[in-house]
Amino acid sequence: MKRTAFSLSLLACLAAMAASATAQEKTATTEPAKESAAAPAEPVKPLRIIAFGAHPDDPEFQIGGCAIKWTKLGHKVKLVACTNGDIGHWGMSGGELAQRRTAEVQEAAKRMGTEVEVLDIHDGELLPTLENRKTIVKLIREWDADLVFSHRPYDYHPDHRNVGLLVQDAAFMVMVPYFCPDVPSMKKNPAFFFFPDGFTKPYPFTPTLAVSIDDVLDEKVLALDALESQVYEGGALGDATTRGKRFGDDPVRRLKFLATSWSNRHSNIANKHRETLLEWYGPEAGATVKHAEAFELCEYGSKPSKEQLRILFPFFK
Ligand SMILES: [Zn+2]
Repeated sequence: MKRTAFSLSLLACLAAMAASATAQEKTATTEPAKESAAAPAEPVKPLRIIAFGAHPDDPEFQIGGCAIKWTKLGHKVKLVACTNGDIGHWGMSGGELAQRRTAEVQEAAKRMGTEVEVLDIHDGELLPTLENRKTIVKLIREWDADLVFSHRPYDYHPDHRNVGLLVQDAAFMVMVPYFCPDVPSMKKNPAFFFFPDGFTKPYPFTPTLAVSIDDVLDEKVLALDALESQVYEGGALGDATTRGKRFGDDPVRRLKFLATSWSNRHSNIANKHRETLLEWYGPEAGATVKHAEAFELCEYGSKPSKEQLRILFPFFK
């Protein structure tokens, strides 16, 4: 496909997505893997997914493709930024930046069909306190999550590491009735997963599964296009020239730039975790996946079997 056509199709996609988000609300949800023909018809319950990132962009970056895939099937996804991102720009900060970044992730959520929440905690100052652990436990309970995602506690950024600790420490505690008794406890531990990263100490990210996002990469790029302060202005480490270099004021060229850089990022994930793709898709389909997102199961949540994982991630056809 020619690059121009690709970019224009991205733009056209934007309008279609707004319409389909509404349509999805009305679509009857079907839970997959009810394979026995003899099984009685049961009311189906959408999966509920909650993903915690440190900053208003991390969950979108890490799980945006799968979020779109789940919402297209009628499942419910919520993305939470655990800080408000108020130091995440080279030229602005404080309340003004927090408001800007909150508006950006709200627009991205609209494009993906997800829910979003930004916690009012300063960027760069997130600590694994009891108060924050309670906040995370309550958010998981209130969302009635089946799946929970976060950074690993070994990521480079202190906020990322602390999100990893906080979410890990919420596993199990979500089921304890007298911890945060004001929000009813969960009967079942959700499955907890980590996002990928490139760090190797104390141990490298070890994927439990990898998902092809070839079918939704265009839509993910469109969602990330809403995160202007980060993807076009370079966030904390950009400078006054970054927006120009990334064609930030040209809607077609900037989307092309973004599509190329995210295609590269997800190709790297697919190639790095090819063995996992082969395991889940089989040798033929697994070899053809170009773009992937990958996740590692945390030991402290529930431990779904491979069959259960295929229900939680209903993407391996
Ligand atoms: Zn971050």
